[in-house]
Amino acid sequence: ETVVNRIAAGEVIQRPANALKELLENSLDAKSSNIKVTLKGGGLKLLQIQDDGTGIRKEDLDIVCERFTTSKLREFEDLNSINTFGFRGEALASISHIAHLTITTKTALQPCAYIVSYEDGKPKGLPKPCAGNQGTIISVEDLFYNVATRRKAFKSASEEHSRVADVVGRYAIHNPKVGFALKKHEANTSDIKTNPNSTHVDNIRAVYGNSVARELLEVEGSDDSLKYKMHGLISNVNYSAKKSIFILFINDRLVDSTALRKTIENVYSLYLPKGSHPFVYISLALDPRNVDVNVHPTKHEVHFLHEDIIIDKTQKSIESKLLGANT
Ligand code: ADP
Ligand code: MG
Repeated sequence: ETVVNRIAAGEVIQRPANALKELLENSLDAKSSNIKVTLKGGGLKLLQIQDDGTGIRKEDLDIVCERFTTSKLREFEDLNSINTFGFRGEALASISHIAHLTITTKTALQPCAYIVSYEDGKPKGLPKPCAGNQGTIISVEDLFYNVATRRKAFKSASEEHSRVADVVGRYAIHNPKVGFALKKHEANTSDIKTNPNSTHVDNIRAVYGNSVARELLEVEGSDDSLKYKMHGLISNVNYSAKKSIFILFINDRLVDSTALRKTIENVYSLYLPKGSHPFVYISLALDPRNVDVNVHPTKHEVHFLHEDIIIDKTQKSIESKLLGANT
């Protein structure tokens, strides 16, 4: 059974950046205002996330790493709306099967923090009282220590660090009210620092620099009958980078839609000089019931109802923005 769980866990969590994404979403779900990420060895030795959110109640510490345990499904109605991304009650359970997981947490009502370590979904002892502020620290040590095949798959710590930094940067851009910090550890790795109550543009500047943040155009769209809302910031045609940056959030989860990405790249290819690349950040709010819930947790690719029409409308908004800004 442990081996089966370990294999399943290795499918959900394939590298430090996947684990971090799950942990970030938990911190955001817990209404944090500040989130700090610390890495050692690109997250393979240590991946730690500290937040100042609601914390976990002492009596829940027993079960948080059990599979399919979630505090986020309250009613049957929620099952439809929540079962979109992330809400599977699998993240902590999976991580506990393939790493040494320690949780330190304090809620507003508790007089002190508690610390517990987990193995294979279960706490290794009773929660121990300790010092700590309100919020949660999740420490993941020696990721894949018991999965030799995965451990061997990593080329370099700095490669894993930059994948983690990429995820942190994207969440920072999408969540400007929250302050994010990622400390640089080894040489050749990047750090990220954003302030709480910033703007999308502030954070695009903090993550990608002023050359990207300088001349962004705002795009918007919505349709009540299709039940969608779109907001985005996109580069103008005189922008150029080494590679294109495409950031898509659907209902606040970082995802990918190849169809949408390709469509937008095609629009830009008509207007951008050869060798230039666009920056595109799009946030889509869809009726959760219209988003495909049957995608595998590791697949960031997403499909949704009325996809063709919504992509078409997004393309038109972008195209008319680019034309308007350049005539
Ligand atoms: P899910 O997010 O799908 O509920 P997870 O395995 O990611 O499942 O987390 C399990 C539970 O642990 C959550 O439902 C939540 O109650 C609790 N939890 C995890 N991380 C945090 C956090 N940073 N702050 C508060 N609660 C957390
Ligand atoms: Mg989660």
